[in-house]
Amino acid sequence: MTIVVLAKQVPDPEALVEVRAGGTELQIEQKFATNLFDEYAIEEALRIKEKHGGKVTIITLGGPKATELLRTALAMGADDVLLLEDPAFLEGDGYATALTLSKAVATQGADLVLCGRQAIDDDRGEVGPMVAEFLGLPHVGAVMKLDIGDGAARAERAVEGGREVVEVTLPAVITAAKGLNEPRVPQVMGVMKAMRAQIPRTSPADLGLAPSDIGKAGSKLKIERYFTREKRAAVKFIEGTPDEQAAEAIRILADVERVV
Ligand SMILES: Cc1cc2nc3c(=O)[nH]c(=O)nc-3n(C[C@H](O)[C@H](O)[C@H](O)COP(=O)(O)OP(=O)(O)OC[C@H]3O[C@@H](n4cnc5c(N)ncnc54)[C@H](O)[C@@H]3O)c2cc1C
Repeated sequence: MTIVVLAKQVPDPEALVEVRAGGTELQIEQKFATNLFDEYAIEEALRIKEKHGGKVTIITLGGPKATELLRTALAMGADDVLLLEDPAFLEGDGYATALTLSKAVATQGADLVLCGRQAIDDDRGEVGPMVAEFLGLPHVGAVMKLDIGDGAARAERAVEGGREVVEVTLPAVITAAKGLNEPRVPQVMGVMKAMRAQIPRTSPADLGLAPSDIGKAGSKLKIERYFTREKRAAVKFIEGTPDEQAAEAIRILADVERVV
């Protein structure tokens, strides 16, 4: 079984994020991690390979640092990786990203494409369904249990108040949700092998894509503005007995804040 996993490197949850002057771009501290939902997708692909045989290829679109994600996936047990790295791929919206990824998937002859249900940075949850659309494949979203059969898969999804079980013909695009599995920790030997691996790269021309189809030029969406949440005022603790605290609270509301 040929399985392709689409995985994205996202800012580490601890990374500092600020809106740049002008409001249309973000300044993000250069600390990265593999998107959590994509770790579930990688783990599921490896488990399917271990049970049914086959090959797992991880594809990412990103900058040079995205090699870290690919090396981690190799250390976990992936067979092949592919980095889509080129200046023309940059600053793309979900449409341009999904178009590019779908062209890369098409070169692999996949029986199954696994993605995360959403990337935790932009949270759009759009790339998986769009890749399915570009490839003309069925899509099952937010899957919590997956069983592969002969030419078809059985998937369970969480729905309001319960679960939905669906059967889908393969090839298909499946997006992974929390609860699908517990991603493995790479073993030392795997890490050492991954550190020595050559990371193959693909250019737009290799995928038959013109610069006008991809990245910023191929995007259909334009960010108008980012807003940050307003900072809350510092909390003031009132000392004293309950009666003194109540009296002081009323004084602040009436005399200082003037809301009563
Ligand atoms: C005008 C515009 C400009 C942008 N410019 C940039 C930019 O310069 N740099 C930037 O990083 N982002 C940029 N973005 C955000 C970028 O478009 C999003 O990363 C993309 O739309 C995917 O959305 P998402 O991250 O919410 O992914 P989702 O749709 O939530 O991702 C779902 C799943 O798709 C897969 N996936 C998503 N992206 C990738 C990827 N790159 N490689 C492999 N698999 C993937 C993963 O499995 C992921 O779990 C821009 C967006 C817009 C609208």
